[in-house]
Amino acid sequence: MSLFDLHMHSTFSDGVYSPEELALMLKSKSVQKASLTDHDTFSGCDAFRSACDAVGIETVDGIEISTVHRGRTIHILGYRFRKEDQRLNDALDFAQKQREKRSDKIIEKLLKMKIDLHFHNSKATISRPEIAEALVKHGFATSKSDAFEKYLGRKGLAWIDKSMMSSIDAIKHIQRAGGKSVLAHPGIYGNSESLIRELAMEGLDGIEAFSSAHFGSQTNKFLDYSSQFSLMVTGGSDFHGREDIGFLGNYGLPQEFQAKLRLKFYSHD
Ligand SMILES: [Zn+2]
Ligand SMILES: [Zn+2]
Repeated sequence: MSLFDLHMHSTFSDGVYSPEELALMLKSKSVQKASLTDHDTFSGCDAFRSACDAVGIETVDGIEISTVHRGRTIHILGYRFRKEDQRLNDALDFAQKQREKRSDKIIEKLLKMKIDLHFHNSKATISRPEIAEALVKHGFATSKSDAFEKYLGRKGLAWIDKSMMSSIDAIKHIQRAGGKSVLAHPGIYGNSESLIRELAMEGLDGIEAFSSAHFGSQTNKFLDYSSQFSLMVTGGSDFHGREDIGFLGNYGLPQEFQAKLRLKFYSHD
């Protein structure tokens, strides 16, 4: 069984393993083709490509962009885009700045409540899970989930709305950079038919029917949608390297779908 695994994360976002370590792990699992799709960055793609080249795994450049559609967080995968495309880079930089601002605003709001988490000297972007950890460490919450409930969640005292790239903009940015856009793990969005229909009308290229997030019957449903809405079919493990250690080599695009994907990936329609 030689799968295409087109969805995984490295230390360039929230994964545990470096692109080089991932390449070796994929080799040991006999994965034939792979894509590194870190959250909102493709900075790891070059390292991943050389490491995969060295062990004979085909690669395609990838990214997983956090977007919003009708108030819901939606993950859009991008493949085979020109990494040097200025508009794509500008859009990702802008999204990154918005995220930084969000953490700053949360920390400011907490400071106004006399909650000082001593983040003054940190330069890197602080994530909400990191703020939750700090709240626990400094005794303002009993656990991370308590921290989210009291402060960081939608009903929490330090809630700041996120402003993210829209799903439609993400699709357009990927396509203008010559790439293909794919709805990641559609099974996690509840009633996804209207979502898929709407995004397909906006030009979405594909859906990730095969995912570690799906049951078998869900996969079949998404295969049906893919023909109904003329979308290409992709698959991936969404491996992060934590409790999902068994996903690598077990989730991805099966052989019988690979030829079709190749055609779609390399077509210019
Ligand atoms: Zn995702
Ligand atoms: Zn992912």
